[in-house]
Amino acid sequence: ALPVIYAITPTYTRPVQKAELTRLAHAFRQVPRFHWIVVEDSTTRTELVARFLARCGVPYTHLHVFTPRRFKRAGMPRATEQRNVALAWLRQHRSKRDAGVVFFADDDNTYSLELFEEHNYHRRMVDPCGFAVNLQVILANPRAQFKRRGSQPGMQESDFLKQITKVTDLEPKANNCTRVLVWHTRTEKPHLANEPKHRKDTVVIEV
Ligand code: UDP
Ligand code: MN
Repeated sequence: ALPVIYAITPTYTRPVQKAELTRLAHAFRQVPRFHWIVVEDSTTRTELVARFLARCGVPYTHLHVFTPRRFKRAGMPRATEQRNVALAWLRQHRSKRDAGVVFFADDDNTYSLELFEEHNYHRRMVDPCGFAVNLQVILANPRAQFKRRGSQPGMQESDFLKQITKVTDLEPKANNCTRVLVWHTRTEKPHLANEPKHRKDTVVIEV
């Protein structure tokens, strides 16, 4: 069977959230055999994200897990719990028979469609440029997780990779890492100071 591309996207409520998810959906919708695992940092699945996903045209799974407040401080790694919930879902719902590649796709980035071209993931691989892992590697290492403890900021990904692979198993992609296929685009925070602080009428605008 041809591999399914799983993209794990942690996301949280803020004014630019739907814009970010929209940009991702525009790319992901064009990729065959794609499955989007969206994990909200929230105590529930929000209506905004549920509605968005239902209409986005990408096959998806909608999960949620709330990051405790004490972990939400500057310099602390983000999205740890969300990525782990997505890994748990994959381990529960996919098996040895399922061919797949797992990408970690934060909602603030921009992804080139070239990243998902077949020659970029057809081999048994772990990809440090785009950071993708073969689904079977994740299933074969059921205890591998993103860790808060002992993980320095920005090192969670490499800590995770160390649990499931050796450096010699890594395959550089993107023309030996000389090309960039993911951009960390920062969407500017909108100024909403002039918007009414409290809803004054019955019209509720979903941003
Ligand atoms: N994120 C989250 N909860 C938060 C902050 C961030 O789920 O409280 C998600 C965010 O939507 C993104 C990922 O975690 O998908 C990484 O966050 P961010 O891009 O802010 O981190 P950075 O790239 O600056 O380390
Ligand atoms: Mn980011």
